[in-house]
Amino acid sequence: MELPDLGAPCSEAACRRLDFLPLKCDACERIFCADHVSYARHRCTSAYKKIFTNKCGQAGCRQREMMPVLCEQCRRNFCLKHRHPLDHDCAGAARAPVSRAG
Ligand SMILES: [Zn+2]
Ligand SMILES: [Zn+2]
Ligand SMILES: [Zn+2]
Ligand SMILES: [Zn+2]
Repeated sequence: MELPDLGAPCSEAACRRLDFLPLKCDACERIFCADHVSYARHRCTSAYKKIFTNKCGQAGCRQREMMPVLCEQCRRNFCLKHRHPLDHDCAGAARAPVSRAG
């Protein structure tokens, strides 16, 4: 993986701030400064791709939900059908909530 050249101007036309640690939007893949990297701040046209990628973590399930559905036990994302610890390979359910180690 190649690193970008040292410093890159923010892609937001009104900003163009030269940042030594430019941030890349993971949806539209453009470079922004820290202030503009969030989807809303640069009116990201590709953010919907990310918003709709709350993919179910259960093997073999291709279901995606519009909002994240996190299992409270293992903190992974699932579809509504698999959200319950008994309905997926839950890594947290078997463990005691409080570690007794030590
Ligand atoms: Zn900026
Ligand atoms: Zn973007
Ligand atoms: Zn599922
Ligand atoms: Zn779980």
